[in-house]
Amino acid sequence: MIGCDVYFDQTIFYPLGGGQPGDTGWMRLGDQTIEITDTRKDLDLGIRHITAAPVDALLQVGATVTLELDWARRHRHMQMHTAMHLLGALIDAPVTGGQVGLAKSRLDFDVGDLKLDKGVLTEQLNALIASGADLGFEWVSEALLDAQPELVRTMSVAPPRGAGDIRMVRIPGIDYQPCGGTHVHCLGEIGPLIVSKIENKGRQNRRVHLVFA
Ligand SMILES: [Zn+2]
Repeated sequence: MIGCDVYFDQTIFYPLGGGQPGDTGWMRLGDQTIEITDTRKDLDLGIRHITAAPVDALLQVGATVTLELDWARRHRHMQMHTAMHLLGALIDAPVTGGQVGLAKSRLDFDVGDLKLDKGVLTEQLNALIASGADLGFEWVSEALLDAQPELVRTMSVAPPRGAGDIRMVRIPGIDYQPCGGTHVHCLGEIGPLIVSKIENKGRQNRRVHLVFA
């Protein structure tokens, strides 16, 4: 069976982007349940929900559906993504790439002469998580961000331009940067993590791998 692309006027689904996989889940319409196997961003049409089965016969324009996330999966992505902010705060070097996954994630740094130790990083990371700080979210203008370019931490994922105000994510005393990703509300929600490996990716590049403890 070939699925369809479905677009809604609003959605809770997060599309593939910024190193994070697209959400999966279900769409309920009356007594029908249709699986959503991936979510992508379409520059013209908006958020594209990819279904496992055809929906043409069921769904008319203007219909109301209920969307349900595969929450266990999404929550893992939120935990991992938020942990990436912590890792970025601990390692004082430009971030050059990253990938969020269900079981493991990675973040790449241009470290220069900085030495990294996975045992020390694991300890520091878990101390931040245990602090249990609440995250805050606020919107700023592009002009403000242009005036403070140092706020953009991730060279590979710069905030979109021309789309209006930009969302800032604040982890009090730890991190403050523009980010449109998915986050937990409170650091304690992440649970213990382990820096499992630090890989050499060239003379100055290090790939830091994270797994759930
Ligand atoms: Zn984020």
